[in-house]
Amino acid sequence: MKTLRKSPRKKSAARPRGGSSAPRPKAPIVIRGARVHNLRNVSLELPRNRLIVFTGVSGSGKSSLAFDTIYAEGQRRFVESLTAYARQFLERMDKPDVDFIQGISPAIAIEQKATAKNPRSTVGTSTEIYDYLRLLFARIGRTVCPTCTRPVHRDTVASVIEKLEELAAKNGPVKFHILCPLAPHPSASLKQEIDYLKKKGFIRVMVGKEAVDLSTSPLPARARKSDVRIVIDRLVYRPGGADTRTGDSVETAFNQGDGYASVVLHETGEEFHFNRHFECSTCRVRFEEPDPRLFSFNNPYGACPECQGFGKSVGIDMDLVVPDKEKSLRDGAIHPWTTPKWHDNLRGLLRIAYEQKIRIDVPWRELTVRETDIIINGSKGFEGLNDFFKKVGRKAYKIYYRIFLSRYRGYTLCAACAGTRLRPAALNVRIRDRNIPEIVSLTIDEAHRFFGRLKLTAYELSVARRILEEVNRRLEYLVDVGLGYLTLDRLAGTLSGGETQRINLATALGSSLVGSLYVLDEPSIGLHQRDTRKLISILESLRDVGNTVIVVEHDAEIIAAADHVVDLGPGAGEQGGAIVAAGSVRDIGLAADSLTGKYLSGALSIAVPRRRTVSGAKRIVLAGARENNLKSVDLSVPVGRFTAVTGVSGSGKSTLVHDCFYAALRREKGDYSLQAGKYRELTGAELVDAVELVDQAPIGRTPRSNPATYTKVFDLVRELFASTQAARVRGFTPGSFSFNIPGGRCETCEGSGIQTIEMQFLADIELPCESCKGKRFRSEVLDAHYHGKSIDDVLGMTVTQAMAFFSATPQGKKIVSRLRVLSDVGMGYVRLGQSSTTLSGGEAQRIKLASHLANTRPGSRTLFIFDEPTTGLHFHDIAKLLAALNALVERGNTVLVIEHHPDVIKCADWVIDLGPEAGQKGGRVVAEGTPEEIAAVGASHTGKFLKALLGMRE
Ligand code: ADP
Ligand code: ADP
Ligand code: ZN
Ligand code: ZN
Repeated sequence: MKTLRKSPRKKSAARPRGGSSAPRPKAPIVIRGARVHNLRNVSLELPRNRLIVFTGVSGSGKSSLAFDTIYAEGQRRFVESLTAYARQFLERMDKPDVDFIQGISPAIAIEQKATAKNPRSTVGTSTEIYDYLRLLFARIGRTVCPTCTRPVHRDTVASVIEKLEELAAKNGPVKFHILCPLAPHPSASLKQEIDYLKKKGFIRVMVGKEAVDLSTSPLPARARKSDVRIVIDRLVYRPGGADTRTGDSVETAFNQGDGYASVVLHETGEEFHFNRHFECSTCRVRFEEPDPRLFSFNNPYGACPECQGFGKSVGIDMDLVVPDKEKSLRDGAIHPWTTPKWHDNLRGLLRIAYEQKIRIDVPWRELTVRETDIIINGSKGFEGLNDFFKKVGRKAYKIYYRIFLSRYRGYTLCAACAGTRLRPAALNVRIRDRNIPEIVSLTIDEAHRFFGRLKLTAYELSVARRILEEVNRRLEYLVDVGLGYLTLDRLAGTLSGGETQRINLATALGSSLVGSLYVLDEPSIGLHQRDTRKLISILESLRDVGNTVIVVEHDAEIIAAADHVVDLGPGAGEQGGAIVAAGSVRDIGLAADSLTGKYLSGALSIAVPRRRTVSGAKRIVLAGARENNLKSVDLSVPVGRFTAVTGVSGSGKSTLVHDCFYAALRREKGDYSLQAGKYRELTGAELVDAVELVDQAPIGRTPRSNPATYTKVFDLVRELFASTQAARVRGFTPGSFSFNIPGGRCETCEGSGIQTIEMQFLADIELPCESCKGKRFRSEVLDAHYHGKSIDDVLGMTVTQAMAFFSATPQGKKIVSRLRVLSDVGMGYVRLGQSSTTLSGGEAQRIKLASHLANTRPGSRTLFIFDEPTTGLHFHDIAKLLAALNALVERGNTVLVIEHHPDVIKCADWVIDLGPEAGQKGGRVVAEGTPEEIAAVGASHTGKFLKALLGMRE
């Protein structure tokens, strides 16, 4: 473990293939005859315990080889090693179509999908850091009384003796009494208590400071039960250790005194009190002893009972009710009351305002707490906002009221736990001065510093050293993968795919499995060029502890860092599926057919376009955005141009573009389903007619949707089939050629072509439908051919093949022009009927782009927003993507992309660079201008990379 991070970077090119630098070269991974998807009988050898990159154009077969062949086989081998019960299902698991594989260890895929289904899971829980923190708090957390802020602790016989030892060490032998209170039994009188004591043989008591021997004298008449303490023993303690009598007497005192005991020094009368309960000794309030479960919001024992550990509840969001805090009450600051229907409510408020001293002509933000309190909670003769919304809520069965409410509804912090998600008891436990919600609200960077500086006592070290090491190690990995800006309580569901993958990567390192095979899918997604270096050193660490690491990547720097590169191609789909070159980076650069090699060596490159100007462009401006880390950012987007928003991961790009800009525009255009992040003002929305977010979400959630249905090409195809002689004879309509409605489709599988078999505990398995053999239609429908092909044959064609097929006939022209946009965005290799669930995020995004390209006419004024459209794209594909984006702009649309890829940034008309750093150290606009102008800004990380790329001098 020690050498894990500090390993010097080894020059990949200098290392011989097969890896002779390892003491005992492991046998390589051998694959023969792989034919999964488009792979053309591929055979290759991969060195073990090395960092291997698979590259090649999109659709060339990288994932088919890395995930669907190698990883899938690793999974199968893993199941094979399980119990006989699990193994009985093995033969029914899909075996990858490959002749022979050797040398594969159990495989772990680190994917971009969020694996956590639990909506409560956070960065802390998914990295296991939170579990260690719970242990740490249970072991060394100090409970603090919330009333008097004094630490709460419990005493034991040992801690009493420790105190005596301390006194004896200072002053020599200690003469003392050990006392305990008269056990308080509410029903017994003082006399009864005393009689009972005597019977048990306790004959000495103290009343206040006065000793009384019960065998000789009576209790003083004024004595009350609470004044009386039992003298358990009179002893002398000598330095250097206790005798058994001391221990026994202390124990007796605790037992007799219901957990309380005191030591009174003979000479001075000084008293020390001890308490075996976990109780504040000042306030006499008992506390629960910390237990790991107490800190778990996933467990009913620890979770806040009000919000069940969500930390939030749904309610009226005042930021939506008063969207513009500059407005005064009279000018309509309260948005819901500006509509004619509710205007009377505003009038009611204005009527009482004078009497109640509420200022109606100052901006909302200047109102005092007293004033807003009346507005929200009402007063005599005026129904406040709370009651108003309650009243509306009662009518929510009517659609109008429901929509009205939805405009103002948002998540608000749970009032019971203030968003901490835990029961109040958990909040009293602290390490140094912080409780667990305060720790997890720190960024990873801050938490790393906090625990790095934490000084522990010898005792604390003995019980917590291991746990603390685990916490520190994991935090360190997260810092290393460039995620130091995330807070530990960040919900896993709000992370981007790239962030999720890097968290999984750090977690994999933290759990330090060795001898495994890791397969990663484009880990550079979402990462700024500046941080790629760190990612590489993490991948190298994973390798250096003894793992084989296979990475599907397009990033030039990561390819250059690989020990071994496999370039797939030469084209996509049917034109791909072969190994074009394999070996060191040098070997790839020298290979004649390798597109990757050509781009790496600079023989091919993406041209910098002749600069267009943004002067004269009108602008949509979002002013004063303040969501998450944004520091009152103004975003000014030139209309009819191509703008790139850049900045390191965590600088605030998604927050600004998605949460604020996109959501605000949608609301402006009448769609209130999104909640917009905080901002002051949006102007220029009228400059565009529509706003489209072209993201990586799947184009359809069912296997029934596919590129042909999504782009509506299939409608045209069905019309064409219905118009044939053969179809008319049989009375077929376009509907007969649909697999989504009854009629022509196979009813056994309802047109899906597959039957799903539910497995006990493994994933469901899917088999081709028995009736139609996976062809989805009834045999009569399949017999209705168009130019010799059935509808099923058409669905099996790639876009490129279909274009050739339909161009042969005049009626097919419209189909060809629709398909052309798919091939223009680099999707010529997909099959028309390929189920959308098997498409990658990048492919889904490009199909959406294509469909927009097909549907926008010249003069359309739409704003398109893309989030890292280069995901999954090879250099060669990016050239095509840029052409498509430019086509949108040429037709009068506006394009806004969030990007890290320098080749895209350099081609934008306008660049807005956020930063300078991530998290709280970011959230500002660092530079804004043409790519050349950005390159000239020293403070911009993006500028530095652009400078090199644009060939500009220092
Ligand atoms: P890459 O990872 O290089 O982008 P893939 O391995 O994902 O390429 O795809 C290679 C080819 O296999 C493509 O033509 C793709 O459409 C096809 N393909 C991928 N997954 C599936 C699948 N589940 N079913 C059918 N075809 C697939
Ligand atoms: P980028 O898109 O540039 O990577 P983000 O906009 O995702 O940056 O993040 C900016 C900052 O806001 C980061 O510190 C991030 O942790 C924080 N942040 C983003 N989304 C959320 C959220 N849903 N909840 C809390 N914090 C968030
Ligand atoms: Zn709560
Ligand atoms: Zn069927």
